Amino acid sequence: MQLIGGSNGPDFDVLIIGGGPAGLSAALQLGRSLRSILICDNKEPRNEPAAEAHGYLTRDGIPPQELRRLGREEVEKYGCEFRESRVTNVNRSENRFTSTLDTDQTVTSRKIVLATGVSDMLPDTDGFEELWGNGVYHCPYCHGYEVRDEPLGVLVTAPEQIEHTKLIYNLSIDLVVFTDGQDVFDEETRSEFVERGIEIEEEPIAALNGTDDGLESISLADGRDVSRHALFYAPPTQQHSDLVDQLGLQVNESGLVETTQSHYGIGFTSVDGLFVAGDASSESALSIPCAVADGSMVGGTVNLELAREAFE
Ligand SMILES: Cc1cc2nc3c(=O)[nH]c(=O)nc-3n(C[C@H](O)[C@H](O)[C@H](O)COP(=O)(O)OP(=O)(O)OC[C@H]3O[C@@H](n4cnc5c(N)ncnc54)[C@H](O)[C@@H]3O)c2cc1C
Repeated sequence: MQLIGGSNGPDFDVLIIGGGPAGLSAALQLGRSLRSILICDNKEPRNEPAAEAHGYLTRDGIPPQELRRLGREEVEKYGCEFRESRVTNVNRSENRFTSTLDTDQTVTSRKIVLATGVSDMLPDTDGFEELWGNGVYHCPYCHGYEVRDEPLGVLVTAPEQIEHTKLIYNLSIDLVVFTDGQDVFDEETRSEFVERGIEIEEEPIAALNGTDDGLESISLADGRDVSRHALFYAPPTQQHSDLVDQLGLQVNESGLVETTQSHYGIGFTSVDGLFVAGDASSESALSIPCAVADGSMVGGTVNLELAREAFE
């Protein structure tokens, strides 16, 4: 096992685990505050399958990798170091963290920002994963405009997902709601939908069919094919990183890390000195602008905590 650094103090003020919009934004605040930072990222961003990212002011339509590249370039100006590796283990002892990387190196830091994101739990229907982000979308704000007025579908497998349909109806009135064989609608809601010309298709889905250009049709178990240009589905998510479990962090009913606030900041977790930002946190809202905003505020909070400690 190789130790990075070697002096008695920690190697870095802050280790940021995850170099997506949240981690990079935290790094920008910390780097501009003269903190030494290491970002470890194992290059598995949540929006990797999408060709474009939308809804982030001044960068609307940018390829996700390009947004990261620009972010990295900006934080490197302030001396932030990068390592393309996964953090496999974090230990807290006295007033420092010792983290192990998948390269078997260890890194010590005063603070940690966990910006590891979430993963989407997709149905194992044929074609679903292949078309995810390219014809099958989770979010109408991110990808709805591009498919407006086209024949659209919504996958609704639980009553709490019905509200999502109203957002999609706003984009196109040529709308089919697929329940994949689940009993989701009560009579009143069904009538509301039918009165608006929305078709409800309750046959189980056999496969999604498409090409590199996106979705073409949805095959049903009874052999019918329904032609659709895009399908929307808001899947449940899970923490991307098992560090959340390993550290015993408190999570809410959706599996997002519970945070607390203090009079000087946000993103505190149940582990002293370890903060969470972005999609992984219960305080963010699962989009790039929200992850950037959260990362920025958490970065500021960590910096203020370090500044206060210098006076203790
Ligand atoms: C298909 C798709 C398309 C999307 N399109 C849009 C869009 O157009 N607009 C929009 O606003 N939002 C979009 N989103 C949502 C957006 O991707 C997320 O809200 C955003 O990426 C959250 O940023 P984050 O930094 O919290 O997490 P992420 O971007 O997921 O970054 C987390 C990073 O942490 C790394 N990581 C995880 N564990 C470890 C570990 N143990 N060690 C080291 N690194 C680790 C991962 O590899 C990853 O790079 C989309 C989501 C999906 C699924």
